[in-house]
Amino acid sequence: DQRYTRALAGELTARELVGLRLGLAGASRAERERRAGTLLERVGLGDRGGARPAELSGGEQQRVALCAALAHRPRLLLADEPTAELDAVTAGGIYALLRELAAEAGVTAVVVSHDPGSAAIADRVVEIRDGRLAGEARGAAAGPAATAGEIVVGHGGWLRLPEHLLRAAAIGDRAHVEVRVGGLLVSGLPGAASGAVIAGAVAGATAEAATPARAPAVLRAPAALRAVSKAYGGRRVIDSLSATFAADRLVAVVGPSGSGKTTLLHLLAGLLLPDAGEIEVDGADVGGTSREARATLRRDAIGYIGQAPGLVPQLDAQENVALALAVRGSRGEEAAAAAMQALAAVGLAGRDGQRVDRLSSGERQRVAIARALVGRPRLLLADEPTARLDRAAAAGVGALLAGLAREHGAAVVCATHDDALVDQADEVLRLGG
Ligand code: ADP
Ligand code: MG
Repeated sequence: DQRYTRALAGELTARELVGLRLGLAGASRAERERRAGTLLERVGLGDRGGARPAELSGGEQQRVALCAALAHRPRLLLADEPTAELDAVTAGGIYALLRELAAEAGVTAVVVSHDPGSAAIADRVVEIRDGRLAGEARGAAAGPAATAGEIVVGHGGWLRLPEHLLRAAAIGDRAHVEVRVGGLLVSGLPGAASGAVIAGAVAGATAEAATPARAPAVLRAPAALRAVSKAYGGRRVIDSLSATFAADRLVAVVGPSGSGKTTLLHLLAGLLLPDAGEIEVDGADVGGTSREARATLRRDAIGYIGQAPGLVPQLDAQENVALALAVRGSRGEEAAAAAMQALAAVGLAGRDGQRVDRLSSGERQRVAIARALVGRPRLLLADEPTARLDRAAAAGVGALLAGLAREHGAAVVCATHDDALVDQADEVLRLGG
């Protein structure tokens, strides 16, 4: 499942979760443990078999979910973005596992992904755009078809032209088609809307976000860590780390899955306390304050985009965003307008009235970003904010976060493994080995 947490019962350990399907089919405990041990070893979690989901990082949970889906040796494996929250090296390991399993056990694997890396293991790559088949390629080395210039002609003459070609040809929302010798010529209409209309909602909407609703707060260094350490039950995850997060800067926190990225964001948000060292946010010593003071600090100065979006499912997109203003004491028409503006900034202008449980994963992710932006935080913490987005949308969100840092004087800290986001960062903080 793309929302892998749904596949993981919180009361079971990784080993039990992986052995569950085998157990239902009557396998003995020894057999279940052997199979679970082998699979967890293969995904680099050999020593985490006794951990429950809440004790695992997002990427680790995703790997456990994959092992749990493979344990009973299925003949058909359906995987929805199985590497969305993993760094490139870990993702490569997952793809290799999928590929090997498919070959050795005759499994047909259907992998939905926006990661071009997934094409490398595929025998067949099918590209979907707006619910239609847009391109197709065969063979492991084929790669995405549309980039090779070949497109599928659907029933009824439907063609989907790649956006970069339309942009390059300055074709807007109408085009002229004529038959030429050996083909068709598609050209722009004089005076028609510019290519920007088609260029992608997120990229288009970023410009709107550039106009701040009110003056940015003036601040020097919204956050700093001094010799901070954090361990979970004796396992040290953050070891004497010092770092400064300055206003107007986007810092990308990178490192392999399990290296402590989420932990670092939790420490900055005062959701976890350090074992040693000092954490300063907005002039306050986070470790030395009360629980209430930390909550006030979060409300006044911090925006948090969690690794799982955590929206209220039965509310619509605008209501979810407005909720973030309501807890800050701002309601009514002004709050509703600010929520709409934040949604427009993440390319969701037309989706404001949709219940969030009916939105796609990428859209929900963007609602969570809008919710964090709407309070105009001085410190914005984002945990893998582009993990569920395709490349164009990820680049748009990267630009949006970088813009927030520069134009609004916020410090933005993003845990990420996405190159599109790392490229936009002013600084890179590397964790783990
Ligand atoms: P990531 O870099 O993938 O975001 P995390 O910060 O979530 O990593 O986790 C770092 C390490 O700490 C991981 O190995 C994870 O299993 C472990 N960990 C995280 N939370 C807990 C917890 N509540 N109890 C025990 N171990 C934990
Ligand atoms: Mg994480």
